[in-house]
Amino acid sequence: MIRRDHEEDSKIERLISRLSSPDIDTRRSAALALDHESDPNAMIHLKRLADDKSSSVRRVALHSISCAACKEEPIPYDVIPVLIKSAESDTSIRVRRVATHLLGNQQTDLRAREVLRKILQTASDEKLLRIAKWSLAQHGEELQTRCDP
Ligand SMILES: [Zn+2]
Repeated sequence: MIRRDHEEDSKIERLISRLSSPDIDTRRSAALALDHESDPNAMIHLKRLADDKSSSVRRVALHSISCAACKEEPIPYDVIPVLIKSAESDTSIRVRRVATHLLGNQQTDLRAREVLRKILQTASDEKLLRIAKWSLAQHGEELQTRCDP
């Protein structure tokens, strides 16, 4: 039992160290593998990758820090501020869409609602608008207009 815990720890340590690799694919695949862990230390390092210079790494990192469905344990910290920052201000529209979708997967939250409403008022990207409508509905706010995907 103790041995297995130790192996598990060193696996997570190995993945954490790969998050700092200069190679984009290495960072991205480590971030993806950590989607199945709720280790608080791993989460701190993953959070850093929400500002990675590669947009594909940022997309995977945002998923891994906020996807409760892939984790056995509850996520050990508040992910909403990280998702809000990326949904509002990431330079990549694809990252903004992913962050907006992930906001819809979180538990009902007033901060998420507020930013999703703001995106609906200010965004021009059709896909982002559709995602924001869906996400807002997940937070208990049905809009007057219908949204057919
Ligand atoms: Zn996941």
